[in-house]
Amino acid sequence: MNLKLTYLINSGFLVEGEDFLLVFDDYREPEGTVERALESGKTSYVFASHAHFDHFDRHILAFAPRVSRYIFGYDIRHAPGARDFPADKTVYMETYQDWEDEHIAVCSFDSTDAGVSFLVTWKETGTKIFHAGDFNWWDWTGEDDRTRRLAENGFKKQLKRLEGLEADVAFFPVDGRLGPSMEKGAREFIRVAEVKNLIAMHSVGFPAWKPSEGFFPEGARIPVWAPTSAGESRVISC
Ligand SMILES: [Zn+2]
Repeated sequence: MNLKLTYLINSGFLVEGEDFLLVFDDYREPEGTVERALESGKTSYVFASHAHFDHFDRHILAFAPRVSRYIFGYDIRHAPGARDFPADKTVYMETYQDWEDEHIAVCSFDSTDAGVSFLVTWKETGTKIFHAGDFNWWDWTGEDDRTRRLAENGFKKQLKRLEGLEADVAFFPVDGRLGPSMEKGAREFIRVAEVKNLIAMHSVGFPAWKPSEGFFPEGARIPVWAPTSAGESRVISC
């Protein structure tokens, strides 16, 4: 099947299938892309991985009449404005939890920052989408050795839980602010998970990332997309 992916800025993406829309971490999207897509009447789910301002924003409440469910990381419960979301349409996920309805199945994983990562399966076709949220190897090169080691250990511990994960599309941070360490997390991730398409995110204001030599294990090159401007889109088949 074909999936249309539209970049909404930072870690925000719209994933459009034949019968469904999945919105992830839409915190600020000036073009009205999501509103227009919702007019299609497709079954729609809106995800937010955690409460940080650059992942969750109350403007998505305006989508409520056309949304089947809001699916949020557990920490959003305490975010400003969270109470305004309709209780009967809002699901909060703890880490390592499963939730499903007739259309989708969702597993949540832990983050190395706040909230969760999501693995979403569209049941009818078995299409699987992974959105990492802020799960990443946050290796800030300016930090002292101990802090960097803690970040590495935390990341590798969570990564174990993703071993063998299969995803047609995986959204993962490749953050330009990390400089020489920016692709470390994504590189480790694609070594343990079976990813068919890798979409880089969380790198606003940096040039489009290109995988460095040695990024891919031998024989495992996969398509990569690193959008830089809100509204950019791409169709992939999976
Ligand atoms: Zn973030």
